[in-house]
Amino acid sequence: MKRALTIAALVMLGLGVRVAESHGSAGTSLASVHRDGSSAPRAPRHVTHPKATITAPRAVGSERPSIRMAITVDDLPGGGPEVGGYTHARIVREIIATLQAHHVKHAVGFVVGSMLEGQPERRAALDAWVQAGYEVGNHTFSHDKIEELGLDGYMKDILANRELVDELAKRVGQHREFFRFPYLEEGRTEHERKTLARFLAAQHYTVARVSVCFNDTDWADPYLRCLQKGDDSALQTLRQSYLDNAMAYLKWSVVAAREVFGHSIPQVLLVHPNVPAAQNLDALLTAYEQAGVRFVSLEEALTEPAYTASYDMNGDNLFERASRRLGRPHPPELVEPAALLDLVCR
Ligand SMILES: [Zn+2]
Repeated sequence: MKRALTIAALVMLGLGVRVAESHGSAGTSLASVHRDGSSAPRAPRHVTHPKATITAPRAVGSERPSIRMAITVDDLPGGGPEVGGYTHARIVREIIATLQAHHVKHAVGFVVGSMLEGQPERRAALDAWVQAGYEVGNHTFSHDKIEELGLDGYMKDILANRELVDELAKRVGQHREFFRFPYLEEGRTEHERKTLARFLAAQHYTVARVSVCFNDTDWADPYLRCLQKGDDSALQTLRQSYLDNAMAYLKWSVVAAREVFGHSIPQVLLVHPNVPAAQNLDALLTAYEQAGVRFVSLEEALTEPAYTASYDMNGDNLFERASRRLGRPHPPELVEPAALLDLVCR
């Protein structure tokens, strides 16, 4: 996406006001992040505006502000090049250490079997994940798209990943089987969507939809470039933009839930095992906690009907599909700092 950042500024300005005006507990807590912001990462530059000063949180009695959030990690054990000593096993171990430091009892990692092909040492990442007691789900064997495999091929690709995922799940002792669509693409047509939904139900899979996807993979290549160059200043800029972006997307999802569903929902966060996550997840979870986030299991989050309803619509994310089905608009889309990501450390 190459849209101008000024669009984001406008979007976020409106969003900030809406958050401040909300009466619910989540809005209150987000507002408090803007207000005190002392140890939290600074509010994104494109979010902050002199006229967007957030009003004092409205009292919600003695109720502690809370946004429930389940954490999920896609594309385990991880793919792509390994730079600066960051093996995939190291990245996953650092993510695990961060989750444990934040007392995150439940997290689900979605496994792509093909990422082990020719890379047996990556198995250590999966072993570490399940040894830590975190759950796993099926993310297809190849991570290819439906249009590349065809519908039958896609279903075979899901089954091809079963042996590996089932063995890992058994070691964790989990009783639910989760599936996540690569690219969060549930099917391009009504026929594809319905066929896959039936197939997954017959396979006893619970589809794990996502509410907070902040395009974290777009930071991976810039991070590797800057690591290779040893450009610490650029890495610091990337870190701040990663955190700003992740916070903005949480705020967006909190507001979008109210606008589309009419109520708050538990959020489901998606991150990937890459260098930006290894380096920033600790700060990100701290920022989320300061915004009132409380970590819950995916199983608990998915009890919210928004995650299991049939929207049967095309769309990039849960809110977009639900918005079309329910006829209730979501907030304008956010944009990421494309120029920074494209140009840094070239
Ligand atoms: Zn994926």
